Amino acid sequence: MNLLIKNVRIENAPQLTDIRIKDGKFAQLEGGLEAQAGEQIVDGGGRLVLPPYIESHVHLDSALTSGQPRYNESGTLFEGIEVWSERKKSLTYADAHERALAAIRQQASFGVQYVRTHVDVTDPELTALRALIDLREEIADTITLQIVAFPQEGIESFPNGRQLMRRAAQMGVNCIGAIPHFEFTREYSVSSLNYAVELAQEFDLLMDVHCDEIDDEASRGLETLATRALEAGIGERVTASHTTAMHSYNNAYFIRLLRLLKLSGLNFVSNPLVNTHLQGRMDTYPKRRGVTRVKELTDAGINVSFGQDDIEDPWNPMGTGNLRDVVFNGLYTTQMMSRSEILNSYKFITHNAARTLHLSDYGIQVGNSANFIMLDAPDWFHALSFGAPVLGSWRAGKQIYSATPSQREVKF
Ligand SMILES: [Zn+2]
Repeated sequence: MNLLIKNVRIENAPQLTDIRIKDGKFAQLEGGLEAQAGEQIVDGGGRLVLPPYIESHVHLDSALTSGQPRYNESGTLFEGIEVWSERKKSLTYADAHERALAAIRQQASFGVQYVRTHVDVTDPELTALRALIDLREEIADTITLQIVAFPQEGIESFPNGRQLMRRAAQMGVNCIGAIPHFEFTREYSVSSLNYAVELAQEFDLLMDVHCDEIDDEASRGLETLATRALEAGIGERVTASHTTAMHSYNNAYFIRLLRLLKLSGLNFVSNPLVNTHLQGRMDTYPKRRGVTRVKELTDAGINVSFGQDDIEDPWNPMGTGNLRDVVFNGLYTTQMMSRSEILNSYKFITHNAARTLHLSDYGIQVGNSANFIMLDAPDWFHALSFGAPVLGSWRAGKQIYSATPSQREVKF
């Protein structure tokens, strides 16, 4: 079906634009377009249109398991890993498939169309991985799912860790992961990263490493990852997720490291909502925020995106999949509150994330697939500040989600 969306504001543009969609692609983007025969007309009423949100870091295999078999009472990353290790024993294909799909449908209701999910492969049966790989194909027309082989309990420190990673690569994941800060020793940390880089190159895959997700200032997996990526010339295909230890690095070390990070071309994903919850748990006061240096990385021209990380699981008792919450929290936590930082912050969950996921055919441009969302706000500032809902999500010109604007009335 061909579609004409009238009177919308695209990204931060001040003027109203019309969007013509033909055969699932953006055909025209300009004001004052006249309706053509057979076109469906939607009046945008001056609302904001954005490219779809991209969830660049989530764990769909553990989503919606909070409290199973018990809640994470300490709120630490490590108790979360213990609880998940217990829950993993009762994992079935149907269980993983059903919860992941429920979480994706929830994400879609908040304007997400692209998801990079980490899937724990420290499971001899690779049960969740099989479910997620099937789901990726089943929903491909509606949601783009990328899967990371994520060794939750280590590559070198878990029995047959390397073989499980290799099997995951053979089964068809999109990305190779690692977890250097959780390996038993510094030597294992380094060798796990070396192995992960070699595996990614052998299978021609992207990489996304849970890197230094700890408050230990001595956790320095990142320098190894960045160096290997630089030497292999694959930096733009590699992502360092979390890097919360960077919060605690001394400035002399960070400034030296920054040069390497820039040279390497590495992407970063920060999960400010969940990391302010999990990090600083061993501190009394002052209590560290435990979020990586998003502002400094961004100012240095390094690509950073934001992710939700967890949706009601052992690492986050709440979390809905709504990336607006993540950006809102992230701006406060990282003190990125200047006018331009606020106005540009939608890029953390759109364009920057698209670069991290290596997406092509993304963005509101003539010739691209007509994938976009409409928010109940005139601009991103109001969408973010008032928590405006997504009223519609279109994929190749077909609406995959709709909501009606809520009526609110102050009675005085
Ligand atoms: Zn994670």
